[in-house]
Amino acid sequence: MLKVLKEANINNKIVLLRLDLNVPISQNKIVSNFRIIKSIPTIEHLIKNNNKIVILSHLGRPKEGEVDEKYSLKPVALYLSEKIKQNIIFEKNWVNGVDFKDSNIIMCENVRFQNGEKLNSSELSRKISSLGDIFVFDAFGVSHRKESSAYGLIDLMDSYAGQLLENEINNALMMISNPVNPLTTIISGAKISTKITLISKLLNKSSHLIIGGGILNTFLFALGHNIGTSLFESDYVDEAKKIIKHKDFEKLIMPIDVVCSNNNSFDNPQTKPISMVQSNDKILDIGAKSIDKYVDIIKKSSTVFWNGPLGYVEQEPYDTGTVKIAKAIAISNCYSMVGGGDTLPIIEKLSLIDNFSYLSTGGGALLKFIEGKELPILKKLGAYT
Ligand code: ATP
Repeated sequence: MLKVLKEANINNKIVLLRLDLNVPISQNKIVSNFRIIKSIPTIEHLIKNNNKIVILSHLGRPKEGEVDEKYSLKPVALYLSEKIKQNIIFEKNWVNGVDFKDSNIIMCENVRFQNGEKLNSSELSRKISSLGDIFVFDAFGVSHRKESSAYGLIDLMDSYAGQLLENEINNALMMISNPVNPLTTIISGAKISTKITLISKLLNKSSHLIIGGGILNTFLFALGHNIGTSLFESDYVDEAKKIIKHKDFEKLIMPIDVVCSNNNSFDNPQTKPISMVQSNDKILDIGAKSIDKYVDIIKKSSTVFWNGPLGYVEQEPYDTGTVKIAKAIAISNCYSMVGGGDTLPIIEKLSLIDNFSYLSTGGGALLKFIEGKELPILKKLGAYT
């Protein structure tokens, strides 16, 4: 059984709280506050019970052992402080000790600036563990990793799962074990390599599995279509061919038409049937007929799980397929779950956050959990017993 914070009686302690505050920041401004907002309930619960909190998080992928202001958590500390209306002390040098002064909350600078974090140095974990009495893990997005400020602390401290983690697990479990059928899964995005296992796993469970993005291109190539200069992964064509031979392959929904750019220019997008794609075309989105077909499937679904943009969303109008699919899910009555670092910002930008049943903070961790892999941190916290 998952050892959860809300069932433990934790008062008047110093709690080390590992969060995933890895949010996009541009010119010191938070571009997406989603992960911060989702972390607040556990912070408030701990404060309500008279605890002091030392917040630990990573941000981006800095070079370990070096301080790089580009990856500083300071803007996050300022933002969170405003949101929860509490003073937060931001500690740059924290690993050898922290001082709460007149505050109840300290946020430590990016844990990935510390030597040894990524390799789960036991020496670093030991130092971090001496900063508090109890450990609460609420960073679902790193559940699949073994790092000092998360996995490394669990054996050293009395450890609990926070509320965000509990919600993530409950929603993902509901989606995998007990979905209300018909279940439609939409697996798209840049690379098939990161999602191939997920596709094979979900093909069994889903009534329909919709694909798009670079993943679609790899399948089209494997099926013998000309994909011109489109993004695809040649190393995974054989894997795609295995799925093509899968007994449930007919559940994998292919588009009817695609939108292409030509000669490396984004101007002059052209919608064409898949069979008409030429050698100098680049497939960047699904076409209007495909959108209609996908929307129709979504309308008839009771559960939808979506991960990954269906096209090159950074450049208009190649975001059209993704935007229309997002809107179709948002207005449908189905239970909808979405995950993925590039998928969520689209929903945020469209102001549709409240129209989805569950938005996960996890990218890789969520996909691995849904694939049925045991995530090391969840295992240590008792999620599989
Ligand atoms: P993450 O893996 O970070 O959790 P995600 O699962 O939401 O994110 P990714 O798999 O990273 O999504 O894919 C998103 C990227 O794929 C976007 O940058 C998008 O532009 C790109 N992409 C999707 N379709 C295409 C295409 N046809 N051609 C080129 N790029 C594409």
